[in-house]
Amino acid sequence: MSAAATTAATRASWTNWGRNQVCAPAEIRRPATEGQLVDLVKQAAANGQRVKAVGAGHSFTSIACTDGLLVDLGRYTRILEHDAAAGRVTVEAGIPLHQLSDDLDARGLALENMGDIDQQSVSGATQTATHGTGLRFRNLSSQIVGLRLVTADGSVLECSESENNDVFDAARVGLGALGLVSTVTLQCVPAFRLHAVEEPVPVEDVLADLDELVSTNDHYEFYWVPHTRWALTKRNQRTDEPARPRPRAREWVDDMALNNYGFGLLCRAGRWRPSLIPRLAKIIPSTGRLDYVDRSDRVFTSPRKVRFWEMEYGIPRQALPEALNRVRKLVDEMGMRISFPVEVRVVAPDDLPLSTAHGRETGYIAVHVYRGTPYDTYFTGVERIMDSYGGRPHWGKLHFQRAETLASRYPRWDDFQRVRARLDPEGRFANPYLDRVLGPVTG
Ligand SMILES: Cc1cc2nc3c(=O)[nH]c(=O)nc-3n(C[C@H](O)[C@H](O)[C@H](O)COP(=O)(O)OP(=O)(O)OC[C@H]3O[C@@H](n4cnc5c(N)ncnc54)[C@H](O)[C@@H]3O)c2cc1C
Repeated sequence: MSAAATTAATRASWTNWGRNQVCAPAEIRRPATEGQLVDLVKQAAANGQRVKAVGAGHSFTSIACTDGLLVDLGRYTRILEHDAAAGRVTVEAGIPLHQLSDDLDARGLALENMGDIDQQSVSGATQTATHGTGLRFRNLSSQIVGLRLVTADGSVLECSESENNDVFDAARVGLGALGLVSTVTLQCVPAFRLHAVEEPVPVEDVLADLDELVSTNDHYEFYWVPHTRWALTKRNQRTDEPARPRPRAREWVDDMALNNYGFGLLCRAGRWRPSLIPRLAKIIPSTGRLDYVDRSDRVFTSPRKVRFWEMEYGIPRQALPEALNRVRKLVDEMGMRISFPVEVRVVAPDDLPLSTAHGRETGYIAVHVYRGTPYDTYFTGVERIMDSYGGRPHWGKLHFQRAETLASRYPRWDDFQRVRARLDPEGRFANPYLDRVLGPVTG
């Protein structure tokens, strides 16, 4: 069947979750099989169009934008194989993490670690090195043990440690630059529960004990609340205790009143009258202590109903306290009112060429503003601080770097560029964002 016949073409503009990126693809297609992915790439080549896949559109950058063919993976979401003995599943690239988590749980499996939300597609999350927190745990891309990649000439490459190893290395965090990831095989772990303790702690105490906190807790993170001396901390330990979910009433209060709707009101009030923010921020630490046990993915992730814009940097983990203190000083000196907490996490090193955690224990600092709030001064100020630690920006979050400023921060930059030049010599999968952060394809 021809690509054109597989699904109706839609001429529409496309926008991301944050509503800060808009593009007008020549066509949007929704394939449902690998054969259709191949046909679409061949058709685009014949028409001289560029191609971009899109997962859940949860990147804040224009990484998924194109004026060519946009391949929406929303219908390409099945689990194809389950190797029970190895604890591995092979999935179609567009499967959302929440669907995957449910399917894995039904099979007695889970993802080893997750970020804050479960809305992303597997391929979108891994192409940008999406991560959670935990010094002993690597990012999602590192959980990939095999993938199939549709390349610019329409051929399908089987990639793993033992097959097309250089492509496998590069394509696990491929920024969508190497081709369309068709299927992904993930190494999973037996399903597990997490014991969560969430409580406000003075930020000075957190920073003084940070080494111990990240070493003794499986998954530790905190949010510093600007204009206060408070950090909202989250400690998650793997446990055999029976589930003891958050009381529903409390869950409602937290999610709707604070994390989402109430917080949204706070942000809107803050945008309307920034001088209110320091006073409003004082409400945040008065949330008290939460202690509960639940299925891992339900503890790792939560809904995000307040839309925001974000920048996040990976730096050497040991630099976190100093770097955060510099961000705190910047916020004080800038005179800008920041309504969104600053998030701090840690992740184990890996060896993937474009992973933000490549070769070092990594600490992440993420800054946010409520959608629609000017962020240039804040984000460039934070970026300058992160630059001094050789910071690596999250590929799916806002930043101002270019290939020239990034290359020296990735020891295996040239390995990635060699694979890119070989697989996509004409830049079929390029877009203006990739031109900026990777440069044009070079031979
Ligand atoms: C509310 C929110 C919370 C977040 N929390 C976290 C977090 O906790 N940790 C973290 O690290 N990040 C986090 N992120 C960032 C997010 O995980 C990444 O931006 C991720 O890339 C989004 O996944 P997606 O499916 O929406 O991908 P998209 O944004 O749709 O695409 C991302 C990139 O992947 C490419 N791509 C997608 N599928 C394919 C494919 N099959 N083949 C080739 N290329 C493909 C796209 O072309 C694009 O380049 C968060 C984002 C939001 C909005």
